[in-house]
Amino acid sequence: MSEIIEYRKLFIGGRWVEPAGHDTIEVISPVTEQVVARVPHAAPADVDAAVAVAREAFDHGPWPRMPLAGRIAVVTRIKDAIAARHQELAELVTLQNGSPMLFSVRGQALSTVGAFAVALSVAETFQEEHERQGVGGPVLVRREPVGVVAAVTPWNVPAMTVAAKLAPALLAGCTVVLKPSPETPLDAYWLAERCAEAGLPEGVLSVLPAGRETGAHLVGHPDIDKVAFTGSVAAGKAIMTAAAANLTRISLELGGKSAAIILEGADLATAVKSIVAGTCGANSGQACVALTRVLVPASRYDEVAGALTAAFGALKVGDPSDPATVVGPLVTKAQQTRNLDYIRIGQEEGAKVLTGGGVPEGRKTGWFVEPTLFGEVTNDMRIAREEIFGPVVCLIRYESEDEAVALANDSEFGLSGAVFTADVEHGTAIARRVRTGTITVNGFRLDLAAPFGGYKNSGIGREFGPEGLAAYFEYKTVNLPAPTNA
Ligand code: NAD
Repeated sequence: MSEIIEYRKLFIGGRWVEPAGHDTIEVISPVTEQVVARVPHAAPADVDAAVAVAREAFDHGPWPRMPLAGRIAVVTRIKDAIAARHQELAELVTLQNGSPMLFSVRGQALSTVGAFAVALSVAETFQEEHERQGVGGPVLVRREPVGVVAAVTPWNVPAMTVAAKLAPALLAGCTVVLKPSPETPLDAYWLAERCAEAGLPEGVLSVLPAGRETGAHLVGHPDIDKVAFTGSVAAGKAIMTAAAANLTRISLELGGKSAAIILEGADLATAVKSIVAGTCGANSGQACVALTRVLVPASRYDEVAGALTAAFGALKVGDPSDPATVVGPLVTKAQQTRNLDYIRIGQEEGAKVLTGGGVPEGRKTGWFVEPTLFGEVTNDMRIAREEIFGPVVCLIRYESEDEAVALANDSEFGLSGAVFTADVEHGTAIARRVRTGTITVNGFRLDLAAPFGGYKNSGIGREFGPEGLAAYFEYKTVNLPAPTNA
């Protein structure tokens, strides 16, 4: 058995320091169920120390005060270091959460690089201030960094969701206290090491692996100016409530139950390929953007059900380090149980398992669930309404396009989606009618150069693209005296 990775210290403001307490986090492999790493569990006292250091660095340190070009230089070095060692990052993510390497290289590691690259390219043309004519005279409109940022992130795409916050926050001139999920602390430490090597000044970044109690202490801290959160709706609501006490700014990237609408004339092969990529093929279905409700015209139901059943049944399930594996284990025993519970609930509700429905044969160890396709689902069933977060997908029949749009919108979520059509213009018109933050015509895509985020319970705010950088600034208006006509 390979050696256990062990950290004994916390990364606070760029230094490795002794934790306040003695608790540790054990990272368990979802494949072998063995401990693969140990890190300290940060306590509220560590949060206080990290926030104090971040506050000092923001209020008095060089980072927010240096010209943007200086920050761009440091962040470029961070991005280049991650790019050069992205395979290592992919392996680290896979070790912790079981993400198949097939997905991990692109979806975990290269998308982390991409998040940095996009934020950098936006920053290069970013205007920190401009002058305009106001009603009462000239005004200088400035954009200043929002301040000390608490970043709280999930385990499913851990490094990428960190990069979505860290890259724009750093470029804006903010300082950051990051609390990664206890399931995936290693990639956050790895990123911290790359930041330190790149010359990030003291105080600018802290990494505190911990569970939700420490997280709650962080997001409720009065010296935090903004909370950037990715995770579940329940945690998002708790964070919004805590942030309200201090009027802390928030951005919330939450869950989804996205619809893939297959229209009458759509090409079946394109739809099937994209739906597989957007469900089981996306981190074994543990993706907020997963296309978990497939809406099919009644006239094509049998054809689509047959094609998707065959495609799901052919997916290679197994060891995530095997480059041919499409579906790996789920992250924890709890997630496996959750998925198996929903499969049982779906059957009790009257839906029909077309393929999958259990633990793959011969997989007694590891938290595997078979790619599972449910037919005869109606949109009022719990399996169609609640986020399952695994390789479990619902097929729902519709009679008219208006009904398809109504079904897509009949959800508490609004994060992602897809429309499959023979007529791109018509498909785009349907896409406009779906209340969701991102929707793709004839494919499955999350574009890092475009704003990404949720309608409804899928969140508040946007990451990526110019909008993702703008989220780390406050506007300031400086009213200038009118020029005197001497
Ligand atoms: P989770 O909400 O349980 O935990 C996410 C993070 O929040 C963890 O670091 C956790 O320790 C912390 N946390 C939980 N409660 C907290 C609280 N009250 N105060 C402060 N911190 C708290 O989510 P998870 O199980 O780690 O991740 C899965 C969820 O994340 C799914 O719902 C998924 O859809 C969502 N997600 C959304 C996106 C997106 O961009 N919209 C991306 C990835 C994952």
